[in-house]
Amino acid sequence: YSLYNFTGDPKLEYAEWESRMDMMNSWFTDMKSENRFLYERESLNGSKVVSQVVDPETKEVREMLNFASNDYLNLTQDTRIWEKVKELSPQYGGGAGGAPLLSGTMRVINELAEKIAQMKGMESAIIYNSGYGANFGTIAGLLGHKDVAIYDMFAHASLIDGSRGANKKFFQHNDSTSLEKVLKASQNKYINKLVVVDGVYSMDGDIANLNEILDVAKYYGAWVLVDEAHATGVIGKTGCGTLEHLDLEGKVDIVTGTLSKAVGSIGGYVTASKRLVNYLKYTSRSFMFSTAPYIPSIIAAKEALNLITEQKAGVDKLWENIQYVKERLTAAGFNIGNAETAIFPIIIGDDNKVKEMTYKLHQRDIFVNPVPYPAVPRKLTRVRMTVTAGFSREQLKYALDEVEIVGKELGVIPQ
Ligand code: PMP
Repeated sequence: YSLYNFTGDPKLEYAEWESRMDMMNSWFTDMKSENRFLYERESLNGSKVVSQVVDPETKEVREMLNFASNDYLNLTQDTRIWEKVKELSPQYGGGAGGAPLLSGTMRVINELAEKIAQMKGMESAIIYNSGYGANFGTIAGLLGHKDVAIYDMFAHASLIDGSRGANKKFFQHNDSTSLEKVLKASQNKYINKLVVVDGVYSMDGDIANLNEILDVAKYYGAWVLVDEAHATGVIGKTGCGTLEHLDLEGKVDIVTGTLSKAVGSIGGYVTASKRLVNYLKYTSRSFMFSTAPYIPSIIAAKEALNLITEQKAGVDKLWENIQYVKERLTAAGFNIGNAETAIFPIIIGDDNKVKEMTYKLHQRDIFVNPVPYPAVPRKLTRVRMTVTAGFSREQLKYALDEVEIVGKELGVIPQ
Protein backbone atom coordinates (compact mmCIF):
# COMPACT_ATOMS: atom_id res chain seq x y z
CA TYR A 1 0.00 0.00 0.00
CA SER A 2 1.12 3.50 -0.72
CA LEU A 3 0.30 6.85 0.82
CA TYR A 4 -2.61 7.13 -1.61
CA ASN A 5 -4.27 4.07 -0.22
CA PHE A 6 -4.19 4.96 3.41
CA THR A 7 -4.94 8.65 3.10
CA GLY A 8 -8.12 9.34 4.96
CA ASP A 9 -8.65 5.78 6.11
CA PRO A 10 -10.79 6.11 9.24
CA LYS A 11 -9.76 2.64 10.40
CA LEU A 12 -6.14 3.66 10.84
CA GLU A 13 -5.08 4.02 14.43
CA TYR A 14 -3.85 7.46 15.39
CA ALA A 15 -0.43 6.07 16.36
CA GLU A 16 -0.08 4.49 12.96
CA TRP A 17 -0.81 7.84 11.33
CA GLU A 18 1.74 9.57 13.53
CA SER A 19 4.50 7.14 12.70
CA ARG A 20 3.83 7.48 9.00
CA MET A 21 3.80 11.25 9.17
CA ASP A 22 7.05 11.19 11.18
CA MET A 23 8.60 9.09 8.49
CA MET A 24 7.64 11.55 5.75
CA ASN A 25 8.71 14.45 7.89
CA SER A 26 12.14 13.10 8.69
CA TRP A 27 12.74 12.37 5.05
CA PHE A 28 12.05 15.91 3.98
CA THR A 29 13.64 17.57 7.01
CA ASP A 30 16.76 15.57 6.40
CA MET A 31 16.98 16.75 2.82
CA LYS A 32 16.34 20.36 3.79
CA SER A 33 18.72 20.47 6.74
CA GLU A 34 21.46 19.25 4.48
CA ASN A 35 20.49 22.05 2.13
CA ARG A 36 20.10 19.52 -0.54
CA PHE A 37 16.55 19.69 -1.58
CA LEU A 38 15.30 22.39 -3.90
CA TYR A 39 11.69 23.44 -3.68
CA GLU A 40 11.40 27.06 -4.58
CA ARG A 41 11.39 28.19 -8.15
CA GLU A 42 11.96 31.86 -8.70
CA SER A 43 11.14 32.49 -12.33
CA LEU A 44 11.23 31.00 -15.74
CA ASN A 45 13.23 33.84 -17.20
CA GLY A 46 11.47 33.62 -20.53
CA SER A 47 12.21 29.94 -20.98
CA LYS A 48 9.65 27.16 -21.01
CA VAL A 49 11.85 24.51 -19.51
CA VAL A 50 14.64 26.29 -17.63
CA SER A 51 13.63 27.32 -14.13
CA GLN A 52 15.54 29.71 -11.92
CA VAL A 53 15.88 28.04 -8.56
CA VAL A 54 17.28 29.57 -5.39
CA ASP A 55 20.04 27.36 -4.03
CA PRO A 56 19.16 26.96 -0.32
CA GLU A 57 22.83 26.75 0.64
CA THR A 58 24.50 29.53 -1.32
CA LYS A 59 21.32 31.59 -1.94
CA GLU A 60 22.47 31.93 -5.50
CA VAL A 61 19.98 31.65 -8.29
CA ARG A 62 20.69 28.62 -10.43
CA GLU A 63 19.17 27.74 -13.73
CA MET A 64 17.89 24.20 -13.89
CA LEU A 65 16.21 22.11 -16.54
CA ASN A 66 12.79 21.39 -15.11
CA PHE A 67 12.02 17.68 -15.30
CA ALA A 68 9.49 17.87 -12.46
CA SER A 69 6.63 19.76 -14.07
CA ASN A 70 3.18 18.60 -15.13
CA ASP A 71 3.00 21.49 -17.58
CA TYR A 72 3.45 18.91 -20.35
CA LEU A 73 2.78 21.29 -23.24
CA ASN A 74 4.38 24.30 -21.51
CA LEU A 75 1.07 26.11 -21.94
CA THR A 76 1.62 28.01 -18.67
CA GLN A 77 4.12 29.99 -20.74
CA ASP A 78 2.14 30.33 -23.94
CA THR A 79 1.75 33.94 -25.06
CA ARG A 80 -1.30 33.09 -27.20
CA ILE A 81 -3.07 32.17 -23.98
CA TRP A 82 -1.88 35.25 -22.11
CA GLU A 83 -3.16 37.44 -24.95
CA LYS A 84 -6.59 35.83 -24.67
CA VAL A 85 -6.62 36.39 -20.93
CA LYS A 86 -5.67 40.05 -21.46
CA GLU A 87 -8.35 40.48 -24.09
CA LEU A 88 -11.21 38.92 -22.11
CA SER A 89 -10.38 39.67 -18.48
CA PRO A 90 -11.80 43.22 -18.56
CA GLN A 91 -15.13 41.73 -19.58
CA TYR A 92 -15.25 39.13 -16.81
CA GLY A 93 -12.98 40.43 -14.06
CA GLY A 94 -10.90 38.33 -11.70
CA GLY A 95 -12.53 36.28 -8.96
CA ALA A 96 -15.96 34.78 -9.59
CA GLY A 97 -17.28 36.39 -6.40
CA GLY A 98 -19.67 33.60 -5.47
CA ALA A 99 -20.30 29.88 -5.30
CA PRO A 100 -21.49 28.36 -8.59
CA LEU A 101 -25.15 28.09 -7.57
CA LEU A 102 -25.25 31.67 -6.27
CA SER A 103 -23.56 34.28 -8.46
CA GLY A 104 -20.34 32.49 -9.37
CA THR A 105 -21.29 30.86 -12.66
CA MET A 106 -20.23 33.15 -15.48
CA ARG A 107 -20.98 32.26 -19.06
CA VAL A 108 -17.33 31.57 -19.83
CA ILE A 109 -17.36 28.80 -17.21
CA ASN A 110 -20.30 27.13 -18.92
CA GLU A 111 -18.60 27.50 -22.30
CA LEU A 112 -15.55 25.74 -20.89
CA ALA A 113 -17.76 22.97 -19.49
CA GLU A 114 -19.34 22.46 -22.91
CA LYS A 115 -15.94 22.25 -24.55
CA ILE A 116 -14.75 19.64 -22.06
CA ALA A 117 -17.92 17.54 -22.36
CA GLN A 118 -17.44 17.54 -26.11
CA MET A 119 -13.77 16.55 -25.83
CA LYS A 120 -14.67 13.65 -23.58
CA GLY A 121 -17.65 12.53 -25.68
CA MET A 122 -20.06 13.12 -22.77
CA GLU A 123 -23.36 14.99 -22.47
CA SER A 124 -22.54 17.48 -19.81
CA ALA A 125 -19.86 18.84 -17.45
CA ILE A 126 -19.32 21.03 -14.42
CA ILE A 127 -16.23 22.97 -13.45
CA TYR A 128 -14.69 22.86 -9.98
CA ASN A 129 -11.96 25.10 -8.61
CA SER A 130 -9.50 22.19 -8.40
CA GLY A 131 -9.01 18.67 -9.68
CA TYR A 132 -8.83 17.51 -6.08
CA GLY A 133 -12.25 19.04 -5.39
CA ALA A 134 -13.71 17.49 -8.54
CA ASN A 135 -12.56 13.98 -7.67
CA PHE A 136 -13.28 14.18 -3.98
CA GLY A 137 -16.64 15.87 -4.44
CA THR A 138 -17.87 13.55 -7.16
CA ILE A 139 -17.27 10.35 -5.25
CA ALA A 140 -18.40 11.82 -1.93
CA GLY A 141 -21.53 13.17 -3.63
CA LEU A 142 -22.42 9.88 -5.24
CA LEU A 143 -21.64 7.16 -2.72
CA GLY A 144 -23.11 6.53 0.71
CA HIS A 145 -22.57 3.94 3.41
CA LYS A 146 -24.36 1.21 1.47
CA ASP A 147 -22.20 1.75 -1.62
CA VAL A 148 -18.63 0.81 -2.48
CA ALA A 149 -15.80 2.48 -4.38
CA ILE A 150 -13.44 -0.06 -5.93
CA TYR A 151 -10.08 1.51 -6.68
CA ASP A 152 -7.07 0.58 -8.73
CA MET A 153 -4.46 0.52 -5.97
CA PHE A 154 -2.47 3.31 -7.66
CA ALA A 155 -5.49 5.63 -8.02
CA HIS A 156 -4.88 9.22 -6.93
CA ALA A 157 -5.42 10.37 -3.33
CA SER A 158 -8.15 12.83 -4.35
CA LEU A 159 -10.24 9.91 -5.56
CA ILE A 160 -9.61 7.79 -2.51
CA ASP A 161 -10.47 10.61 -0.12
CA GLY A 162 -13.91 10.85 -1.71
CA SER A 163 -15.11 7.55 -0.31
CA ARG A 164 -14.84 8.48 3.37
CA GLY A 165 -18.55 8.05 3.84
CA ALA A 166 -18.73 4.88 1.76
CA ASN A 167 -17.04 1.50 1.62
CA LYS A 168 -13.71 1.20 -0.07
CA LYS A 169 -11.88 -1.68 -1.76
CA PHE A 170 -8.76 -1.98 -3.90
CA PHE A 171 -7.71 -4.15 -6.82
CA GLN A 172 -4.19 -4.82 -8.08
CA HIS A 173 -2.89 -2.16 -10.39
CA ASN A 174 -4.33 -2.44 -13.91
CA ASP A 175 -5.35 -6.06 -13.26
CA SER A 176 -8.87 -6.90 -14.47
CA THR A 177 -8.71 -10.39 -12.93
CA SER A 178 -8.08 -8.87 -9.52
CA LEU A 179 -10.92 -6.40 -10.17
CA GLU A 180 -13.22 -9.27 -11.01
CA LYS A 181 -12.46 -10.96 -7.69
CA VAL A 182 -13.32 -7.80 -5.78
CA LEU A 183 -16.50 -7.26 -7.80
CA LYS A 184 -17.61 -10.85 -7.29
CA ALA A 185 -17.13 -10.55 -3.53
CA SER A 186 -19.04 -7.23 -3.54
CA GLN A 187 -21.91 -8.47 -5.66
CA ASN A 188 -24.69 -8.75 -3.12
CA LYS A 189 -23.16 -6.62 -0.40
CA TYR A 190 -23.58 -3.09 -1.71
CA ILE A 191 -26.18 -1.08 -3.58
CA ASN A 192 -23.97 0.93 -5.93
CA LYS A 193 -20.49 -0.10 -7.05
CA LEU A 194 -18.14 2.43 -8.60
CA VAL A 195 -14.88 1.30 -10.20
CA VAL A 196 -12.32 4.10 -10.06
CA VAL A 197 -9.16 4.38 -12.18
CA ASP A 198 -6.75 6.99 -13.47
CA GLY A 199 -6.48 7.25 -17.27
CA VAL A 200 -2.72 7.84 -16.91
CA TYR A 201 -1.13 7.02 -13.56
CA SER A 202 0.59 9.99 -11.94
CA MET A 203 3.57 8.16 -10.47
CA ASP A 204 4.02 5.50 -13.15
CA GLY A 205 3.01 7.09 -16.44
CA ASP A 206 1.22 3.97 -17.63
CA ILE A 207 -2.25 3.92 -19.18
CA ALA A 208 -5.36 2.29 -17.69
CA ASN A 209 -6.20 -1.13 -19.06
CA LEU A 210 -9.63 0.29 -19.68
CA ASN A 211 -11.01 -2.10 -22.29
CA GLU A 212 -10.78 -5.05 -19.93
CA ILE A 213 -11.71 -3.04 -16.84
CA LEU A 214 -14.86 -1.79 -18.54
CA ASP A 215 -15.90 -5.26 -19.65
CA VAL A 216 -15.59 -6.65 -16.14
CA ALA A 217 -17.24 -3.65 -14.48
CA LYS A 218 -20.20 -3.71 -16.85
CA TYR A 219 -20.65 -7.46 -16.37
CA TYR A 220 -21.05 -6.88 -12.62
CA GLY A 221 -23.26 -3.82 -13.05
CA ALA A 222 -20.68 -1.37 -11.70
CA TRP A 223 -20.18 2.24 -12.80
CA VAL A 224 -16.76 3.36 -14.02
CA LEU A 225 -15.01 6.64 -13.28
CA VAL A 226 -11.79 7.67 -15.06
CA ASP A 227 -9.56 10.52 -13.84
CA GLU A 228 -7.95 12.18 -16.85
CA ALA A 229 -5.56 14.47 -14.95
CA HIS A 230 -2.38 13.32 -16.72
CA ALA A 231 -4.05 12.17 -19.94
CA THR A 232 -5.80 15.28 -21.23
CA GLY A 233 -3.56 17.11 -23.70
CA VAL A 234 -1.14 14.18 -23.72
CA ILE A 235 -2.77 11.07 -25.23
CA GLY A 236 -5.46 10.55 -27.88
CA LYS A 237 -5.30 11.52 -31.56
CA THR A 238 -6.27 15.13 -30.80
CA GLY A 239 -5.10 15.22 -27.17
CA CYS A 240 -8.55 14.47 -25.73
CA GLY A 241 -7.24 11.80 -23.38
CA THR A 242 -7.58 8.12 -22.60
CA LEU A 243 -11.03 7.54 -24.08
CA GLU A 244 -9.98 8.98 -27.41
CA HIS A 245 -6.71 7.03 -27.21
CA LEU A 246 -8.55 3.73 -26.63
CA ASP A 247 -11.56 4.54 -28.81
CA LEU A 248 -13.90 4.35 -25.84
CA GLU A 249 -15.66 7.72 -26.00
CA GLY A 250 -19.06 7.59 -24.36
CA LYS A 251 -18.38 4.16 -22.82
CA VAL A 252 -17.60 5.18 -19.24
CA ASP A 253 -20.02 6.77 -16.82
CA ILE A 254 -17.91 9.56 -15.34
CA VAL A 255 -14.78 11.31 -16.55
CA THR A 256 -13.01 13.74 -14.23
CA GLY A 257 -9.84 15.76 -14.60
CA THR A 258 -7.85 18.85 -13.85
CA LEU A 259 -7.01 22.03 -15.73
CA SER A 260 -3.67 22.24 -13.93
CA LYS A 261 -1.43 19.91 -15.91
CA ALA A 262 -1.18 19.89 -19.73
CA VAL A 263 -3.92 22.55 -19.79
CA GLY A 264 -1.57 24.86 -17.89
CA SER A 265 -4.13 26.61 -15.69
CA ILE A 266 -6.00 25.62 -12.52
CA GLY A 267 -9.39 24.07 -11.83
CA GLY A 268 -11.10 20.70 -12.22
CA TYR A 269 -14.00 19.14 -14.08
CA VAL A 270 -16.47 16.29 -14.07
CA THR A 271 -18.25 15.09 -17.19
CA ALA A 272 -21.08 12.58 -17.32
CA SER A 273 -24.70 12.30 -18.45
CA LYS A 274 -26.87 15.42 -18.06
CA ARG A 275 -28.79 13.73 -15.30
CA LEU A 276 -25.74 12.75 -13.30
CA VAL A 277 -24.08 16.15 -13.70
CA ASN A 278 -27.28 17.81 -12.55
CA TYR A 279 -27.38 15.54 -9.53
CA LEU A 280 -23.78 16.46 -8.67
CA LYS A 281 -24.61 20.17 -8.85
CA TYR A 282 -26.75 19.70 -5.77
CA THR A 283 -24.94 16.92 -3.93
CA SER A 284 -21.25 17.54 -4.52
CA ARG A 285 -20.26 19.71 -1.62
CA SER A 286 -16.85 20.80 -2.94
CA PHE A 287 -18.77 22.21 -5.93
CA MET A 288 -21.73 23.75 -4.09
CA PHE A 289 -19.95 25.26 -1.14
CA SER A 290 -16.81 26.62 -2.74
CA THR A 291 -16.38 29.77 -4.83
CA ALA A 292 -16.31 29.23 -8.58
CA PRO A 293 -12.82 29.36 -10.12
CA TYR A 294 -10.79 32.48 -10.82
CA ILE A 295 -12.10 33.63 -14.19
CA PRO A 296 -8.78 34.39 -15.93
CA SER A 297 -7.81 30.78 -15.22
CA ILE A 298 -11.01 29.66 -16.96
CA ILE A 299 -10.29 31.87 -19.98
CA ALA A 300 -6.77 30.42 -20.10
CA ALA A 301 -8.02 26.83 -19.84
CA LYS A 302 -10.55 27.38 -22.61
CA GLU A 303 -7.94 28.83 -24.94
CA ALA A 304 -5.53 26.01 -24.05
CA LEU A 305 -8.12 23.35 -24.88
CA ASN A 306 -8.85 25.08 -28.19
CA LEU A 307 -5.13 25.02 -29.02
CA ILE A 308 -4.94 21.35 -28.04
CA THR A 309 -7.92 20.21 -30.10
CA GLU A 310 -6.89 22.37 -33.07
CA GLN A 311 -3.51 20.64 -32.83
CA LYS A 312 -1.62 23.87 -32.25
CA ALA A 313 -0.35 23.06 -28.78
CA GLY A 314 2.73 20.99 -29.59
CA VAL A 315 1.40 17.54 -28.66
CA ASP A 316 3.49 16.10 -31.53
CA LYS A 317 6.65 17.73 -30.13
CA LEU A 318 5.82 16.33 -26.69
CA TRP A 319 5.62 12.85 -28.20
CA GLU A 320 8.96 13.21 -30.00
CA ASN A 321 10.46 14.06 -26.62
CA ILE A 322 8.66 11.22 -24.84
CA GLN A 323 9.95 8.70 -27.40
CA TYR A 324 13.52 9.94 -27.10
CA VAL A 325 13.53 9.86 -23.29
CA LYS A 326 11.93 6.43 -23.23
CA GLU A 327 14.47 5.02 -25.68
CA ARG A 328 17.41 6.47 -23.76
CA LEU A 329 16.25 5.36 -20.29
CA THR A 330 15.42 1.88 -21.56
CA ALA A 331 18.68 1.51 -23.48
CA ALA A 332 20.63 2.57 -20.38
CA GLY A 333 18.96 -0.25 -18.44
CA PHE A 334 16.80 1.76 -16.01
CA ASN A 335 13.65 0.17 -14.64
CA ILE A 336 10.89 2.51 -15.83
CA GLY A 337 8.04 0.07 -15.23
CA ASN A 338 5.39 0.32 -17.93
CA ALA A 339 5.82 4.06 -18.51
CA GLU A 340 4.34 5.09 -21.81
CA THR A 341 3.42 8.76 -21.42
CA ALA A 342 5.21 11.91 -20.23
CA ILE A 343 5.89 10.58 -16.72
CA PHE A 344 8.95 8.39 -16.18
CA PRO A 345 9.58 6.64 -12.89
CA ILE A 346 13.21 5.65 -12.40
CA ILE A 347 12.40 2.84 -10.01
CA ILE A 348 15.17 2.16 -7.50
CA GLY A 349 13.51 0.71 -4.39
CA ASP A 350 16.13 2.15 -2.01
CA ASP A 351 15.39 5.47 -0.30
CA ASN A 352 19.04 6.41 0.15
CA LYS A 353 19.80 5.92 -3.50
CA VAL A 354 16.66 7.84 -4.44
CA LYS A 355 17.88 10.75 -2.30
CA GLU A 356 21.42 10.52 -3.63
CA MET A 357 20.35 10.38 -7.25
CA THR A 358 18.03 13.36 -6.82
CA TYR A 359 20.78 15.35 -5.13
CA LYS A 360 23.38 14.52 -7.75
CA LEU A 361 21.00 15.48 -10.54
CA HIS A 362 20.17 18.76 -8.81
CA GLN A 363 23.90 19.48 -8.63
CA ARG A 364 23.98 19.01 -12.38
CA ASP A 365 21.08 21.47 -12.75
CA ILE A 366 18.55 18.81 -13.57
CA PHE A 367 15.42 19.33 -11.48
CA VAL A 368 13.69 16.02 -10.71
CA ASN A 369 11.58 14.89 -7.73
CA PRO A 370 12.31 12.03 -5.35
CA VAL A 371 9.34 9.80 -4.49
CA PRO A 372 10.16 7.98 -1.24
CA TYR A 373 8.13 5.54 0.84
CA PRO A 374 5.31 5.93 1.84
CA ALA A 375 4.33 7.94 -1.24
CA VAL A 376 4.82 4.69 -3.16
CA PRO A 377 5.46 1.16 -1.83
CA ARG A 378 8.95 0.59 -0.39
CA LYS A 379 10.14 -1.64 -3.21
CA LEU A 380 9.07 0.91 -5.77
CA THR A 381 10.61 4.15 -4.47
CA ARG A 382 11.86 6.21 -7.35
CA VAL A 383 13.09 9.38 -8.94
CA ARG A 384 10.23 10.86 -10.96
CA MET A 385 11.11 12.55 -14.21
CA THR A 386 8.54 14.25 -16.41
CA VAL A 387 9.03 15.43 -19.97
CA THR A 388 7.53 18.50 -21.56
CA ALA A 389 7.22 19.61 -25.17
CA GLY A 390 9.59 22.58 -24.89
CA PHE A 391 12.85 20.66 -24.39
CA SER A 392 15.28 20.78 -27.28
CA ARG A 393 17.09 17.59 -28.28
CA GLU A 394 20.36 19.05 -26.91
CA GLN A 395 18.77 19.70 -23.50
CA LEU A 396 17.34 16.19 -23.36
CA LYS A 397 20.62 14.69 -24.47
CA TYR A 398 22.55 16.57 -21.79
CA ALA A 399 20.08 15.51 -19.07
CA LEU A 400 19.95 11.87 -20.11
CA ASP A 401 23.74 11.62 -20.40
CA GLU A 402 23.93 12.89 -16.81
CA VAL A 403 21.13 10.61 -15.60
CA GLU A 404 23.06 7.70 -17.05
CA ILE A 405 26.36 8.75 -15.45
CA VAL A 406 24.70 9.18 -12.04
CA GLY A 407 22.78 5.91 -12.43
CA LYS A 408 26.08 4.11 -13.00
CA GLU A 409 27.85 5.88 -10.13
CA LEU A 410 25.13 4.76 -7.72
CA GLY A 411 24.84 1.25 -9.10
CA VAL A 412 21.25 1.82 -10.21
CA ILE A 413 22.26 0.54 -13.63
CA PRO A 414 25.29 -1.58 -14.51
CA GLN A 415 28.63 0.17 -15.24
N1 PMP B 1 -5.76 13.51 -10.12
C1 PMP B 1 -4.48 13.20 -10.34
C2 PMP B 1 -4.15 11.88 -10.97
C3 PMP B 1 -3.47 14.11 -10.01
O1 PMP B 1 -2.18 13.80 -10.21
C4 PMP B 1 -3.83 15.35 -9.43
C5 PMP B 1 -2.80 16.41 -9.12
N2 PMP B 1 -1.79 16.07 -8.28
C6 PMP B 1 -5.17 15.61 -9.18
C7 PMP B 1 -6.11 14.68 -9.56
C8 PMP B 1 -5.60 16.87 -8.51
O2 PMP B 1 -5.64 17.94 -9.39
P1 PMP B 1 -5.42 19.43 -8.88
O3 PMP B 1 -3.96 19.63 -8.73
O4 PMP B 1 -6.04 20.26 -9.94
O5 PMP B 1 -6.16 19.58 -7.57
